[in-house]
Amino acid sequence: MESVIVLNRNFEYWTEVNLRKVLKWLVQEKIEIVLVDESKEIGSIEYRIKMPLVVRLMKFVGFRPKSEKIPFSTEAVFNRDDNTCQYWHFDEKGKKFKYKCNTDDRTLDHVFPESRGGRKTFENSVCACRNCNERIKKNRTPEEAGMELIRKPVVPHRDKNSFVIMRFAFNPKKLSHKKFIEWYRGGV
Ligand SMILES: [Zn+2]
Repeated sequence: MESVIVLNRNFEYWTEVNLRKVLKWLVQEKIEIVLVDESKEIGSIEYRIKMPLVVRLMKFVGFRPKSEKIPFSTEAVFNRDDNTCQYWHFDEKGKKFKYKCNTDDRTLDHVFPESRGGRKTFENSVCACRNCNERIKKNRTPEEAGMELIRKPVVPHRDKNSFVIMRFAFNPKKLSHKKFIEWYRGGV
């Protein structure tokens, strides 16, 4: 089920909840919708609304702790890794370098292969270029493929500072929902 971003009354990020909860809160008038996906509709035949992407609490519920885990998504992995292939590349002289992927050749690689029971978690997922993932590594572990990770993949955290900047920078009417979702999911 799709998750919806919930903002605090002051437009700071609060949490993400599933659609069912959002619909319940809407009926209870606990939230208002900030951004919708115009292309999708949800609900029953009698009650149809545009798919909510971001909602805002009607009441202020206090401040969040210093940092918070970011929910897992492919986009969040790409952001954590700064779209850089997490396997060392080598130039013709055998010198290591980091390869920055473009949108077409970045893939989500499961360090321990998914086909062999590897999990879809931050700790087991990295950004990898198509060449490393599909032509070299395939269904193998980095060790088996003779590849070396740039760094150990970790769970990223959203920094409290980003909320503060957010409070002043965020104008939901001016920001496209896609950009907004990317911003939040990536926790940049
Ligand atoms: Zn690569």
